[in-house]
Amino acid sequence: MKILSVNAGSSSLKFQLFLMPEEKVLISGLFERIGIDGSYTIKLNGEKVTKETLLANHEVAFNILMKELIDNNVVSSLDEIKAVGHRVVQGGDYYDKSVIIDDEVISRIEEMSVLAPLHNPAGLTGIKASMSVIKNAINVAVFDTAFHQTMPEENYVYALPYEWNKEYKIRKYGYHGTSHKYVSERINQILGRDNTRVITCHLGNGSSISAVKDGKCVNTSMGLTPTAGVIMGTRCGDVDATIITYMMDKLNMSTKEIENVMNKESGLLGISGVSNDSRDIVDGIENGNSRCLLAQKMLVNSIVSYIAKYYVELGGADAIVFTAGIGENSIVTRRDVINKLGALGIKLDEEANDIRSIERLITTSDSKVPCYVIPTNEELMIAKDSYNLIK
Ligand code: ADP
Repeated sequence: MKILSVNAGSSSLKFQLFLMPEEKVLISGLFERIGIDGSYTIKLNGEKVTKETLLANHEVAFNILMKELIDNNVVSSLDEIKAVGHRVVQGGDYYDKSVIIDDEVISRIEEMSVLAPLHNPAGLTGIKASMSVIKNAINVAVFDTAFHQTMPEENYVYALPYEWNKEYKIRKYGYHGTSHKYVSERINQILGRDNTRVITCHLGNGSSISAVKDGKCVNTSMGLTPTAGVIMGTRCGDVDATIITYMMDKLNMSTKEIENVMNKESGLLGISGVSNDSRDIVDGIENGNSRCLLAQKMLVNSIVSYIAKYYVELGGADAIVFTAGIGENSIVTRRDVINKLGALGIKLDEEANDIRSIERLITTSDSKVPCYVIPTNEELMIAKDSYNLIK
């Protein structure tokens, strides 16, 4: 069965077409600058082709994608695509798993746009374009928040007036759930059992860390929005909330302006003044830049403090997993984090850690908790959920 996995951004559309349940990628690619000018890249049989073309909207992108699928003999008719799985960032407390999209699902995604104003409308654009172009496919919504719905109340309510939770839906939702779910299922396969305590570290430009018990999320570092938690590329992560109102007064800033600073001008970029990209931070350190060194130390401390917190909350850990751009590739960041976890009896294997983007155990055999690199695969998780819903 052929299943299309889609991740729509406001001006982009990432896709992978899978043969399921074989989990084989038939074609993948990315449409960019939709609504601006447009180009797309397609990867097929190990070859990558990029084309420039006007992409007025997501529907145009979907039509071009379908034409490419047929021209390249990936499908003989669009009816072969049985389902389209869509990444949707915010599902509120309505959804604890992926669902088949109907009118009610669409209106709830619209409703939750208040909490994800950049992401949910983009997801809806992808869903509507898919519905109008691939008419006979079933559409599935896979929510970033769903995996975290199993958190107990004491971990998702904020210590603000309790009515805010009930009346305004102010609570911790958590994000990157599809990735945390994927790597926590994979680590359980590696460990060979489901009754595990696992800490999953999704460290990319956006980062979050989750505590997962018996395959279910019990806590996560992001909050109401993806601004909270560990320090990120341009997001501040956890800060004293009163700094925000103080600086708004001081600089006469609007809510939009301060949100922009917290989300786009903070994190590694804000501290270093150099870059949001962890590679540039590591290069800066090598060139003696003290603010890059400060940014890296702060990043490592913030990751370590969440791992330590979740280690205690879980009553120990059977494994710690590193994934996403930094988690899979930054040898230096993994080394610094694991070396700081020495108090927990965790010991890095320097040689094993010298890898990028491959699945591997990176701690020594006498390490009290094994640490693994597991490349994430959100697209596959979306295809798996879609397959399981419609099979
Ligand atoms: P996003 O949250 O945008 O999906 P990614 O998961 O792609 O982000 O992660 C981006 C981060 O991964 C950047 O900070 C980048 O420096 C880091 N990264 C990517 N490749 C490497 C690499 N080869 N070595 C070190 N860091 C890397």
